[in-house]
Amino acid sequence: MSGRAAAPSPWLEDWAKGVSLTQRVEVFLKKIARQAALNAFVEVFEQSALERAADIDARRQAGAPLGPLAGMVVALKDNILMKGHRCTASSRILEGFEAPYSATAVHRLLEADAVVIGRTGCDEFAMGSSNETSYYGLVRNPLDPERVPGGSSGGSAAAVAAGLCDAALGSDTGGSIRQPAAFCGLWGMKPTYGAVSRYGLIAYGSSFDQIGPMTTSPEDAALLMQVISGPDPYDATSDVRFTFQKSEHGAQERVVSLGFFPELLEGSDIEEPIRKAYQDCLERARILGCVLKPIELPMRSWLVPLYYVLSTAEASSNLARYDGVRYGYRSSHGETLEQMQVNTRTEGFGAEVRRRILLGTFVLSSGYYDAYYSKALKARALLCRRLENLFNEVHFLLLPTTPGLPFRFGERSADPVKMYLEDQFTVMANLTGHPALNFPWPCAGDFPVCGLQIMGPRRSDADLLAMAGRLVASKF
Ligand code: GLN
Repeated sequence: MSGRAAAPSPWLEDWAKGVSLTQRVEVFLKKIARQAALNAFVEVFEQSALERAADIDARRQAGAPLGPLAGMVVALKDNILMKGHRCTASSRILEGFEAPYSATAVHRLLEADAVVIGRTGCDEFAMGSSNETSYYGLVRNPLDPERVPGGSSGGSAAAVAAGLCDAALGSDTGGSIRQPAAFCGLWGMKPTYGAVSRYGLIAYGSSFDQIGPMTTSPEDAALLMQVISGPDPYDATSDVRFTFQKSEHGAQERVVSLGFFPELLEGSDIEEPIRKAYQDCLERARILGCVLKPIELPMRSWLVPLYYVLSTAEASSNLARYDGVRYGYRSSHGETLEQMQVNTRTEGFGAEVRRRILLGTFVLSSGYYDAYYSKALKARALLCRRLENLFNEVHFLLLPTTPGLPFRFGERSADPVKMYLEDQFTVMANLTGHPALNFPWPCAGDFPVCGLQIMGPRRSDADLLAMAGRLVASKF
């Protein structure tokens, strides 16, 4: 891939050759129809995509100035709003809901002249790691249709990996960009918390949620980050100090120190192909001149419990708005307002979402708040401090994205704990707000590729792409 990493992306190449965008969109539309069995898209925006492509083609012909994404065809996860189009978080409860405004990230994509080709399936309300909980059915992994594409942004990952679009946006609350990117051989970035506006993203856990790119190259991810990131007055948590640019950490000539976790190389709790890939990547880093520093994974056994206490608490509050009165699905059963609301929520939400609302309501309820929620908040603060300190010692942390390779349908869906443990290496970055990136790495197991993860200090998003780009380019 060293040649490929340096070569322009296919969309840029086509653009440079003068291939019309209309033609490219038509090809994608045909491919999407041919690959319908993957079920990557919930809805294809055929008409608006063709109209936009024609408009950009016309402006190009007229010699008008065009944005940096002119030529790129992008898909959106079904929880990111685009004005005039439906958006459902792949849930029955939002059936028929039409976005009254566009998410800031989408607005910026369009301003930069990207074409949006449709919305992709996800786990319901972005809760899951396998794309098996979508109201619109499961999504298949294009690299092996018997396996899950990962989740919750599995439709986005499948669409990009199958070549049904050039890139996609996903959202990541506990790993939902990085894990499906790992399962489908892509680059997937969970930006620094506050780097990308959450305005227009259907909320799951607001102190965790970030929108980010899923791409086939680090260059495309960087370009998308440049466009979608940056302060936004519509999101009070957006980071006014964020700019997407390389700092001295990413510079090739600097000696880079990388923290790694020997316990993951020694233990047997990650699958062998992942362990091997991790080891191999560390060796690569050493050959490149990086200084490797062994570190103990901070608060390891706390991470998944912390995430599930805090994210479900936030979800129970965020999802309270779906009451059958304001928008989306409304049950036709029930004599009173309360009965209608109870029935709407019972019929409109799937089992996993209901489980999380119940869990979140429980940890917030009086008598349990102090035992669970407030304790988890304190532990979160401690974890943030630990990580800040770690980044005073090393530039980056290198770790696996997932404990195993893509699993088969039904393998984990009966046991929520098994499914939740899928997130053991990804939730840390959401708990602390640090940026984290999945990058593809060759795999010696019975799957062609796996994912590794690099984390860095706040606002080092560009450096992560540069550093991982170096590692991958030296490997392939
Ligand atoms: N798998 C995690 C969960 O189920 C991550 C979800 C996400 O990042 N949206 O909550």
